Amino acid sequence: MQIRINGGRIIDPGHFDGTADIVVEDGKIAGIVENEPLIAPDQASNIQHPDLRIIDASGRIVTPGLIDMHVHLREPGDEHKETIASGCRSAAWGGFSAVCCMPNTSPVNDSRQITEYIRAKASQLNMVRIYPVAAVSKGIEGKTRCDFNELKEAGAVAVSDDGHPVMDSHMMRRALEAARDLNLMVISHCEDISLAAGGAMHEGAVAKKLGYHGIPSASESIMVLRDIALCELTAAPVHIAHVSSLESVRAIRDAKARGIRVSAETAPHYFTLTETAVNDSGTHAKMNPPLRTEADREAICEGLADGTIDAIATDHAPHSQKEKDVAFESAANGIIGLETAVSLSLKLVQEGVLSFSGMVEKMSTNPARILGLENGLRVGQAADITIIDPDLSYTVNSDNFQSLSRNTPFEGWQLKGRPVLTMVGGRIVFDHDQNLRP
Ligand SMILES: [Zn+2]
Repeated sequence: MQIRINGGRIIDPGHFDGTADIVVEDGKIAGIVENEPLIAPDQASNIQHPDLRIIDASGRIVTPGLIDMHVHLREPGDEHKETIASGCRSAAWGGFSAVCCMPNTSPVNDSRQITEYIRAKASQLNMVRIYPVAAVSKGIEGKTRCDFNELKEAGAVAVSDDGHPVMDSHMMRRALEAARDLNLMVISHCEDISLAAGGAMHEGAVAKKLGYHGIPSASESIMVLRDIALCELTAAPVHIAHVSSLESVRAIRDAKARGIRVSAETAPHYFTLTETAVNDSGTHAKMNPPLRTEADREAICEGLADGTIDAIATDHAPHSQKEKDVAFESAANGIIGLETAVSLSLKLVQEGVLSFSGMVEKMSTNPARILGLENGLRVGQAADITIIDPDLSYTVNSDNFQSLSRNTPFEGWQLKGRPVLTMVGGRIVFDHDQNLRP
């Protein structure tokens, strides 16, 4: 079976940007054909030829499969919020051909068994690729370091105690050194627990008005600066998760200028929303790190534009109503993000913050580079492909989401542009036009 994706604008950052056709065969990219006359529409409806499927991508953008390097799939342990299967469907629907799942499941992914369990489930499902991120410390308790060798052998692509910081600086140093020797990335959740303690949202005007205890930006940036210092000490790389504050952006920019091997991601909510969203969305605007001020939001956009922030990841954090329909202070942190990430990131393109190519870099090329994953639209590579219609407008309706959870502050938003097809290894796992749901 051959698939041809015809007439789209193909963007493979740093390699190709132009109108061409992609030929997919045996799960791989078999050819990229420029300047060939388009197959006439009557031939395009090629139902009589079961061995050839033609996808008309004219007016659309064809990119390497998008990679979300930060999601929470909740299995094992919290299958009422999300399972590996529902998370995969959510990812496919959102245009992602691969996701990296964080280890704060129950039990925690701190062992070969859990890493292998996740990979076995993923291969059974045969939908999007799942790359497990295993824990830095046993039970993400920050006390005993995990056996990185065992975790890497089992298939972990990175280590992180995400959800919790590694507060002990000596342990972080040893983790960076051990991970460096195994070519494993450490993903750091930067939060000084003593500064953040008791906080429910950003420490600022809105928290004051609502009477909530605040979390200062310094609780994040102080740990970003510590991790940068540890990178200098160890010559190991570190990846900073979910950057939310102006001070963190500055610290990372300065470190990069000095040649330190730090990379960083942010999430769509940090360049879309501010602390004022708590007024309208309540617990659906509660996350960790919290939404901050307009100055922080602008700094995140600048960081994305100038390359300080390498990646856009969702921090997809499903929670059931039970965890969100409670008093703000006691509500769980986090929102789902897989199904709105592309449309929200396209706003950056519409506003001139990023080019299309820049957006693809943040959502595919750079996550792959940071984690050492195969990526790109080149002959011989696995056909992991996302097609985006930049003009398709719609209203966010979480009833259509594939995720088991509905905790989104973007319900009812009018957005322009969305993913319309996701292909993984030559298999179409989501096709908006054919109404093929994952
Ligand atoms: Zn985190």
